[in-house]
Amino acid sequence: MKVDELGVTLTHEHLHMQFDCVLQGPPKGIPSYPPAKEEFQLKNLGILRQYPYSSVYNIKLDDVDSKNIMLDELLRYKAAGGNTIVENTVHGISRNNELLRTLSEQSGINIIAGTGINFISYILNKEHFGLETK
Ligand SMILES: [Zn+2]
Repeated sequence: MKVDELGVTLTHEHLHMQFDCVLQGPPKGIPSYPPAKEEFQLKNLGILRQYPYSSVYNIKLDDVDSKNIMLDELLRYKAAGGNTIVENTVHGISRNNELLRTLSEQSGINIIAGTGINFISYILNKEHFGLETK
């Protein structure tokens, strides 16, 4: 792809991922943290934004809801003048190149797949990658 074909470009997006490696328990003293999809409500929005990594549903972008929303978001981005997205879901957080191709074909958005290994996932799962830190 030539640079002049990129158009309006978002440089760090995630259209699909499993980010379980950053899951943290909810802070102590918060009695009604929304852990599940059914409990996502406007009244919980503030606390969810403050502690986004304490909700399993919030850190996984790999379910049917996420896939449907991503295509809708891409179509809205295209309608607003967007043309390209750099998708940074790399090895370790469930990269899905086939889904990226499908979303690109259905939306007309160029999707550039990032490469590499997610650092947090690597630190927590070194044996999975067969690597060691010296
Ligand atoms: Zn990211």
